[in-house]
Amino acid sequence: MDPKDKVVIITGASSGIGAAAARAFAAAGAQVALAARSTDVLEQLAAELPGQPLIVPTDVSDAGQARRLVEHTVAERGRVDILINNAGVGLSSPVEKLNPADLDQALAVGLFGPLYTIQAAVPLMRTQHCGQIINVSSVIGVQALPYLGGYAATKAALDRLTDALRIELLGSGIVVTLVRPGTTRTDFRARRLGQGREQRRMAPAGVTPDVVAQTLLRAARREPRVAYVTLGDRLRLVFAAMAPTLTERALAWSFSWSDE
Ligand code: NAP
Repeated sequence: MDPKDKVVIITGASSGIGAAAARAFAAAGAQVALAARSTDVLEQLAAELPGQPLIVPTDVSDAGQARRLVEHTVAERGRVDILINNAGVGLSSPVEKLNPADLDQALAVGLFGPLYTIQAAVPLMRTQHCGQIINVSSVIGVQALPYLGGYAATKAALDRLTDALRIELLGSGIVVTLVRPGTTRTDFRARRLGQGREQRRMAPAGVTPDVVAQTLLRAARREPRVAYVTLGDRLRLVFAAMAPTLTERALAWSFSWSDE
């Protein structure tokens, strides 16, 4: 749908991809509702944006707060046209040392957060007979990387939840889209949980959050099942599916090199 004049909830809007998406959707004429825990940062961002953004301080891992995010947006703006589940937290650790408490926390934000907002938004979108849910996953949900197994598990789980929801909502007028960015230059790595080793080879690579935000905007306009940010991301996954053993050996070599 054309985001102009549409009510768009963006979780994780205080930083990186979410903040860039807030700018992109607001510039496209959407009425954005910004959600994250850092209220001061959301207020600064909202002050830059056109269209009087709504600020809804939210910890999406709390079911009550996630539900309130949707309810408050409806109370203030009358509807929710697009829900972008973007909030997420990284987790870096070898699987053999993965701390279950860290995985719990990553799942609470990256899987249960979207579940709670979806459960609040879908009944409302059903009454509207239209709406779109965009879940921000990652290429890593398809092809795991070493030392990021816990994080990859959160994204793979989100992918399957999203796929099932899409099928369940066929014919309802509600579109479900999965966006799979690759490496993006945000503060994500600095904030991640766990004690994995530095991935020096990968750190400088990647696109800017603005590029991912444009993909999110296109995903709203074109309503695909799945959207990738770059052709390279998509081709790497095709290659990994065709040559899994070679891919795994190349990744093992690449990450051993980065440890030297
Ligand atoms: P980021 O800059 O670290 O931003 C993460 C956002 O999530 C922040 O706004 C943070 O806000 C919010 N957040 C974290 N925990 C939250 C919680 N409990 N409740 C509500 N909001 C919470 O990371 P990013 O790179 O923009 O990542 C955004 C999404 O893209 C994530 O889902 C990530 O998995 C995905 N992704 C990132 C990359 C990458 O390379 N960066 C690649 C593929 C996919 P507060 O701290 O203020 O709550």
